[in-house]
Amino acid sequence: MTIYGRSDIDSISIGDADHTHERKKGDGNITITCAFCEPRLINDPMWSSNPREIPLTPDEVHDIEDAQNNISRFEAMRIAEDARAAADMLRGDTPKARGSAR
Ligand SMILES: [Zn+2]
Repeated sequence: MTIYGRSDIDSISIGDADHTHERKKGDGNITITCAFCEPRLINDPMWSSNPREIPLTPDEVHDIEDAQNNISRFEAMRIAEDARAAADMLRGDTPKARGSAR
């Protein structure tokens, strides 16, 4: 089995300092396949045995929240724009042409 660490983990030492795992340069998250360390890290909130469920760093969580907020704002603006266009159509107004010169 292999376990996967959060992206901000570069190395880990368990027990005596001689037993260390490091992230390989150029790799993404640190991965460990080690019968000694796996049972000790499997319930650690910074590690996961599932590569699709690697815990996020606080920065990554923040970035995702920002992105979700931006998506929500964009979606709300689009819905408001559609509602205005629908209201214009119901009144019989011609929808404003976008980008046309006046
Ligand atoms: Zn180990």
